[in-house]
Amino acid sequence: MKKELTCIVCPLGCNLEVEIINNEIKVKGNKCDKGRKYAEEEIKNPKRVLTTTVRVKNGKYNVIPVKTTGPIPRDYIFEVLKRLAKIEIEAPVPQGFKVLEKIYQDVDVITTRPMEKRETTKNPKDNQNKASNPI
Ligand code: SF4
Repeated sequence: MKKELTCIVCPLGCNLEVEIINNEIKVKGNKCDKGRKYAEEEIKNPKRVLTTTVRVKNGKYNVIPVKTTGPIPRDYIFEVLKRLAKIEIEAPVPQGFKVLEKIYQDVDVITTRPMEKRETTKNPKDNQNKASNPI
């Protein structure tokens, strides 16, 4: 089996040609060894940094952007999204707040911006209009 990949380890973005022969992974096109390691991991256990949003109670906006502090297995991403969908955090929230701890090895899910409390006015309709998407 042959597969073409672009190495994302550095800005050079080498085009990698990966071939699997008898369970052995052969990599061509890499200008350094990091590219070979990237290609092997991409074949054996592809990982991604997850970015999404989580609901916020009484925040300036209804949701807050979050991300994993490192890559997690691609096959595990849907499970983490399901867990995050059940979570609602209360404003105010600082940047870097741990929404979920150690979801995979030492990787946490953290907020990527702070979220202040919603300003309240006497007209409740005004408060609803102010809460929209922060992204
Ligand atoms: S193979 Fe090496 S030089 Fe090429 S993109 Fe990957 S890290 Fe950069």
